[in-house]
Amino acid sequence: MQVQKPYRILLYYKYTKLDNYEEYAAEHLEFCKKIGLKGRIIVAPEGLNGTVSGTVEQTDAYMEFVRKDPRFADIWFKIDEADGHAFKKMFVRPKKELVTWRFEEDVDPNETTGKYLTPKEFYEMLQRDDVVVLDGRNYYEYDLGHFRGAIRPEVESSREFPEWIRENLSQYKDKKVLTYCTGGIRCEKLSGFLLKEGFKDVYQLHGGVVTYGKDPEVQGRLWDGKLYVFDERISVPVNRTDEDVVISHCYYCGKPEDRYVNCANPFCNKQHFCCPECEVKYKRSCSDECREHPRNRYVEEENAKLQAAGK
Ligand SMILES: [Zn+2]
Ligand SMILES: [Zn+2]
Repeated sequence: MQVQKPYRILLYYKYTKLDNYEEYAAEHLEFCKKIGLKGRIIVAPEGLNGTVSGTVEQTDAYMEFVRKDPRFADIWFKIDEADGHAFKKMFVRPKKELVTWRFEEDVDPNETTGKYLTPKEFYEMLQRDDVVVLDGRNYYEYDLGHFRGAIRPEVESSREFPEWIRENLSQYKDKKVLTYCTGGIRCEKLSGFLLKEGFKDVYQLHGGVVTYGKDPEVQGRLWDGKLYVFDERISVPVNRTDEDVVISHCYYCGKPEDRYVNCANPFCNKQHFCCPECEVKYKRSCSDECREHPRNRYVEEENAKLQAAGK
């Protein structure tokens, strides 16, 4: 029997009308701080979206707090076990939208959204030859891992999707389109947007890739690489079969590598795959210019280590 780890990471959302969202955000923050939870929560007039970490007791208390509000009584918490916190601080931000799409005409996922597929149904659909699989995330998430054969969106943020879809996907309007994202929230409106744009048959992976990876029957099959997550873990495994492979490559030397780092130039921060050897050799910097930047963090860290060592 597996021993339960002492911490948990929760991922959750619910689209439901919140008239008093700023007040609800303040109340939320106060409760989270009181119990010692950490993470990032967004509260908007259209609902709640969050990812938080805490001990088993803290996360139990939090889930009870959220569910006791009738608007969130049926919210779905996806739970990962962990050895410690996955965040450093606690943020609860009131925002206009849970995901920043900025559609010209907003999509209410409670009215217009793609058909939900369970992991098993999604896995079966993936193998048909009349489907198009669209990754609903950004390119840097895709590059770390994605469903085999999925289309890579050339976007860096959700708000770039509408234009990219209009320019690149209109030939698929009569196909079955499957969308997926990390925990499901992005597909709620993205699939609705596709329907409004005239795509006729649109499906979404219910519960996202995190749920897919946990399905005991499917075991993450047809997923290549890892899953990008927005917490300190950066990536988590999905495919539990022996087909698990590394699909990304070190930015410098080209060998298979799925370790993401940020460029050490604090004004660049570009995320790139980097093997441990190249990190040293190239000072974790994406270009010569970044490497020689006077505020290079890799250089500062190395100097601090030398000082701490007494030399
Ligand atoms: Zn390398
Ligand atoms: Zn750089």
